[in-house]
Amino acid sequence: MPEAPMEVPNHTEYSVAENNKNKLEFIEEATKNADEIQRKVLAEILSRNAHVEYMKRHGLNGRIDRETFKRIIPVITYEDILPDINRIANGDTSPIICSKPISEFLTSSGTSGGERKVVPTIEEEMGRRSLIYSLLMPVMSQFVPGLDEGKGMYFLFIKCETKTPGGLPARPVLTSYYKSSHFKDRPYDPYTKYTSPNETILCPDSYQSMYCQMLCGLCQNKQVLRVGAVFASGFIRAIRFLEKHWTLLCHDIRTGTLNSMITDQSAREAVMRINKPDLNLADFIEAECRKDSWQGIITRLWPNTKYIDVIVTGTMSQYIPTLEFYSNGLPLVCTMYASSECYFGVNLNPLCKPSDVAYTLIPTVAYFEFLPVERNNGGMLKSHNDQKEQQDLVDLVDVKIGQEYELVVTTYAGLYRYRVGDVLRVAGFKNNAPEFNFICRKNVVLSIDTDKTNEVELQNAVKNAVSHLMPFDACLSEYTSYADTTTIPGHYVLCWELSHKGSSPQIPASIFKDCCLTIEESLNSVYRQNRVFEAIGPLEIKVVEVGTFDKLMDYAISLGASINQYKTPRCVKFAPIVELLNSRVVSTYFSSKCPKWTTPALKQWTDMK
Ligand code: AMP
Repeated sequence: MPEAPMEVPNHTEYSVAENNKNKLEFIEEATKNADEIQRKVLAEILSRNAHVEYMKRHGLNGRIDRETFKRIIPVITYEDILPDINRIANGDTSPIICSKPISEFLTSSGTSGGERKVVPTIEEEMGRRSLIYSLLMPVMSQFVPGLDEGKGMYFLFIKCETKTPGGLPARPVLTSYYKSSHFKDRPYDPYTKYTSPNETILCPDSYQSMYCQMLCGLCQNKQVLRVGAVFASGFIRAIRFLEKHWTLLCHDIRTGTLNSMITDQSAREAVMRINKPDLNLADFIEAECRKDSWQGIITRLWPNTKYIDVIVTGTMSQYIPTLEFYSNGLPLVCTMYASSECYFGVNLNPLCKPSDVAYTLIPTVAYFEFLPVERNNGGMLKSHNDQKEQQDLVDLVDVKIGQEYELVVTTYAGLYRYRVGDVLRVAGFKNNAPEFNFICRKNVVLSIDTDKTNEVELQNAVKNAVSHLMPFDACLSEYTSYADTTTIPGHYVLCWELSHKGSSPQIPASIFKDCCLTIEESLNSVYRQNRVFEAIGPLEIKVVEVGTFDKLMDYAISLGASINQYKTPRCVKFAPIVELLNSRVVSTYFSSKCPKWTTPALKQWTDMK
């Protein structure tokens, strides 16, 4: 992720070395005194919010010590505070969860009841997000010198936003950030020099925005020292865009013009300040893009690139082979771990292998607790719903190396002991602060981009779809799924084994296509939005031979699974199992349409009226 500007007075007074030193010292101090800082952060949050309704409701009575807090305040999920969130969204400005006014709602990629979660935030949280951003380049510059001498080519986008019934903006956290003065009016900083002018990032049309950003990135190709996007999937989309549009882009570079499809005036003007006729550059790009193989295209077109800055942890790890192909193995750098609820931490060893990435949570930004998670014999996560266990949450400095935990956060914006839903494993310590590998998002079985589909959603969607088979006396005897990222964009694949009662009439292809669409229509709004914006390709159903799932079970048992406890996994990732399924495919079908998604999809508020 790109970094935020730092508080610097002006160009001449700015010293990169000095600033880097200050930030690294901050990390050193914060990690050494992690426990003390955590105690203070909690006390500050509790004393500021002693009189809010939520605290009175639970009877904390102004106490600010950890022990009382842990005894009295429950560990919650989003659904538990949804009634409070809805009141705020509907315009209740009394201090319900936070003494400071709620400034906006951040729409998360996590969903609840099929709709995006909306997280209330306060103005000052922007400063904490900026703090986390400001640490990234000082950390990076310890490993890669000279990054202040060129530019970053980052593909950054805003998404659509809406207003709550009470009139507050509701938008994704990055949209909020790019539209804020923290980003737009950033003072001079050699680390926030991007090839994309602000106007192209702030262009609401994603096609025009991408076109302009790509054109500006190509025009300044020699200056680019690092490239990236927030998630790996986003960066791969940009390369795919280039594959589709390089002839138009080259034409614009050759002639110093801008395609008339770009109608956003401010983006046009910003691009035209950069794009000047350059025959040689256009010829060079054209020659590279014309080659049969696109292997190493990033290093070919942007020859000074030192690394790719994208998140490849969690489900994004599925994109590592594609990124390695396009970049000829440039380092893949994951710099930070963040969410709508809170920006959590940074990777202090950014050149490590993607599988070793560990994030150090910054103790000043929120109060962190950790709910130990255990796995059953099959390696599946066990759920912790019992109250007793919830009392046993562990503090930041007390987590144990190798143990997995679910992250629980208490924020300045009024979330108290809130389960984020991410599972982290302690990889080591930086001074007294733990470093965590990101393991997974709890319950998520399928993900291509920002979508997170859980098993229940998948099950419901499949249940809705199989009703199309009823007239044919066919039923679904088994199914599983996987995320296919060999296509760009990636897509969901469902493997179906059917059984027929009596003589089986032929099921027309159109019926399976309807099944595909019904599944997509039944999935959550983040999935459907990603489909509409082509970040996810059409869903595919592969009908497999009768007996395939028996083979799957045999295989699992040969690997040591217990026959008694064997359950068909509703999602598979292990390559030999995917191969086994693919070797027994009888027919395949794709959705022929996009599922419905309405802008903005904050259906929860429309329903309440
Ligand atoms: P959102 O609320 O939409 O901003 O999504 C936040 C979620 O994205 C986190 O809770 C994680 O599940 C995921 N996420 C964010 N940063 C990372 C990262 N560096 N590695 C893996 N997953 C991440």
